[in-house]
Amino acid sequence: MEETFEDVREKLVQLATTLGYKINYTTGSPNSMNFNRKIITLSPFCSLKDIYSFVHELGHCIDYSKEKFNTKKYNSNKLYRLWKEFIGWWYGFKLCVKYKIPIKKYPSYAFNKWITYIKYT
Ligand SMILES: [Zn+2]
Repeated sequence: MEETFEDVREKLVQLATTLGYKINYTTGSPNSMNFNRKIITLSPFCSLKDIYSFVHELGHCIDYSKEKFNTKKYNSNKLYRLWKEFIGWWYGFKLCVKYKIPIKKYPSYAFNKWITYIKYT
C-alpha cells in the first residue's frame, strides 16, 4: 500500500514530538517555529509542498538541537540567516530521503523559498 501524505505527516509529527516540539495548525500565517516555546506552526493542509515546508521547519529543529543555531545572530545577521535557512532546507532534504518523500520538486521549491530571504531581508 502506498503511503499518503497524511501518513508521512503523521511520522513527521512523531519526529517533532521526539525532538520536543508541538504542532500548531493554523491558516493565514506562514509556517514558522518558535524554539523557546517549542512550537512549530504549520498549515493544516497536507500537499507535497506542505510536507516540504514541514521538513524544513524540522530541519531548523535538528540544527537547533545540535546547538548550532544562534537565534540572536539569526535575527541580526543577514548572511548568518541565509546560511541557517540553507541548513534548514539541507536537513529537510535529508528527512525527505529518510522518509521516502518524493524529492523531485524539492530543490526548486526550496530554492524559491530560500531566495526570498535574499530579496526581502
Ligand atoms: Zn526556515
